[in-house]
Amino acid sequence: MKRNKTAWLLCMAALCLVLYTIVVSRASARTDVIFGGAEGGFIRSDSASFVDPATYNTPEPTVDIWPAIDITQSQYSLVTDKDPDHILNSLWEPDIAQIPNTTEYFDIAALPYLEAMIQDLKDNGFGVYVGSGYRTYSYQKRLFDGKATQIAMGLGVPVEKEMYLDPRYQEAVEEAKTITAYPGSSEHQLGLAVDLFDKVYYPPLSYSTMNQKFFDYLDSICYKYGFIKRYPTRKLLLTGWDEPWHYRYVGVEAATFITEQNLCYEEFYKHYNPDFNY
Ligand SMILES: [Zn+2]
Repeated sequence: MKRNKTAWLLCMAALCLVLYTIVVSRASARTDVIFGGAEGGFIRSDSASFVDPATYNTPEPTVDIWPAIDITQSQYSLVTDKDPDHILNSLWEPDIAQIPNTTEYFDIAALPYLEAMIQDLKDNGFGVYVGSGYRTYSYQKRLFDGKATQIAMGLGVPVEKEMYLDPRYQEAVEEAKTITAYPGSSEHQLGLAVDLFDKVYYPPLSYSTMNQKFFDYLDSICYKYGFIKRYPTRKLLLTGWDEPWHYRYVGVEAATFITEQNLCYEEFYKHYNPDFNY
């Protein structure tokens, strides 16, 4: 009887381990297949190596030309893990609507601007692929945990229920933070950010091998629709991210000013909120 019970327990433990392994490997696969950029695998050094510190330090515009805006409006929200006051909690949800002809969602008020920008790209002969729009906190958590688990496995941490207790798992978490935004610190949770490509690219994403004409054109028109290139390579040392396909809606007035002055969003935001740290 006792032997039977032991065998049964061993069997169940083995089954749990198999199921857990499947779940973890699916989570990791999902990170690598569906999304790129800060969310999936990409070659950080691909374009980051081009950053010249002399080029990211933009002189501050003189005070009187800054637009008179209310920075507390939700369209100006800034999310970053560099400042604890700028992390979203798990309950934060925007009003969203589906981006037509995609499986992605976007902020309902900003969606017409995104649609117009996509139409502009199409009218100019480009294919458009929306890699990622709104993302929930829990989905970001799954992406992040999948990435941390994948890295931990690479460090030799055995896949088991308590693997997070292994000190090497913490190492993996720290490394994962440089690849995938920590839950609550992804701008995609705002519903105001979108990853745009001219077609599907497969990870690891490498910007220099993508269609530069698409991005050159998009960069030249996005401000007209209220969007900025949120994590340009030249600003990597200020934003912490090099994600040249990630565009963010901030409204036409702010986007135009940011583009004209060659600012990143952190530089812009700090002017209105001096307590902000980045
Ligand atoms: Zn993104």
